[in-house]
Amino acid sequence: MKVNAKRNSVFSKPFPLKRRLFLRCLFAVTLTFASCSDIQGGGAPARPLFESLRPRAEPFREEFALNTVCTVMLFDQARPEVYNAIFNRIREIESRMSAFLPDSDISRVNAAAGKAPVEVHDDVFKVIQRALEIAKLSGGAFDPSVGPLVSLWGITGDTPRVPSREEIDAVLPLVNWRDIELDPARRTVFLRQSGMALDLGAIAKGYAADEAVAIVRQARLRRALIDLGGNVITFGRKRDRTPWRVGLQTPHGSRGEFMGVISGWDMTVVTSGIYERFFEYDGVRHHHLFSPFNGLPARTGLLSATIITEVSMDADALSTAIFVLGYERGRALVDSLEGVEAIFIFEDRSVRKTAGANFALTDSSFRLLTD
Ligand code: AMP
Ligand code: MG
Repeated sequence: MKVNAKRNSVFSKPFPLKRRLFLRCLFAVTLTFASCSDIQGGGAPARPLFESLRPRAEPFREEFALNTVCTVMLFDQARPEVYNAIFNRIREIESRMSAFLPDSDISRVNAAAGKAPVEVHDDVFKVIQRALEIAKLSGGAFDPSVGPLVSLWGITGDTPRVPSREEIDAVLPLVNWRDIELDPARRTVFLRQSGMALDLGAIAKGYAADEAVAIVRQARLRRALIDLGGNVITFGRKRDRTPWRVGLQTPHGSRGEFMGVISGWDMTVVTSGIYERFFEYDGVRHHHLFSPFNGLPARTGLLSATIITEVSMDADALSTAIFVLGYERGRALVDSLEGVEAIFIFEDRSVRKTAGANFALTDSSFRLLTD
């Protein structure tokens, strides 16, 4: 059985060190070519000697958090305290939302499923609230209670497997966002059935990216690029005033290989793709984006679905939602939302985009179709 885990879902188990280092290496390539195709050099500029007396900040900082590689670029105006504040905040969000840390709010909610409501931190409450809105919008294609399915397939662990139809049917009734009860006055979350489990892996990285930008804004920095394992946000203007250019990952290509470029100003770009995490069994590939309707990895003829919008939490959840919905229904959902654009890559290497998506194909082995 082959296991692939190039990009990890936020809340999967920590990877062994060797694999983490491998991820870091892969990511360095991404930085150069994909997210930051416009950032020339990347190294610190030569400075006069007296400047070295000031605290020097890196042009970017990269750390392993949220079980993925997180890169923050604050460029020339960065202060080390700002980097520290951002990474502390990312780790704080992880400590509250990980389903694998036993003390996290999410683990406490899951442990009390079918028994009692649990009070959670405002961060967690806000993310679950938005998750439920997007679950409703997507007719349940995005479902934050997908936890029992994720565990059954073992997709976020080291020993994934294909469960039997009976096993899937046994857990499917537990995957139902309507059975998540929120009490805003008490800030509690209650999972109505015992055995239910929340998994915020498809939305929490987006929230963390939004929070990172909030810190950049508070610090009054003029520009930043945040990339939390593929959840990209561009903030402010580049020095040369040209638009930011974000590479769109080639499905099944090596990390950092891109097949097109998305240009824009303050935007977030988030992709859900079957190549991010999958395993192979009996010659069949099984990926990590589950249909809550049949309990199987969603097969909709798509290799990836990308959302471009302003709020990264929304982009994160919506990219998962439209992947699971497939092109027709996913496109209808995106078209119904103001300020949300999408790019769909199909198994036959054709590509479709919404009218407002500022996307240019750079790899001629793909075909951009127009409506
Ligand atoms: P993303 O890469 O943002 O699309 O998130 C994928 C992760 O979200 C998976 O690894 C699962 O933990 C979780 N997930 C899988 N299917 C769904 C679904 N239909 N709705 C919500 N979360 C899901
Ligand atoms: Mg997502």
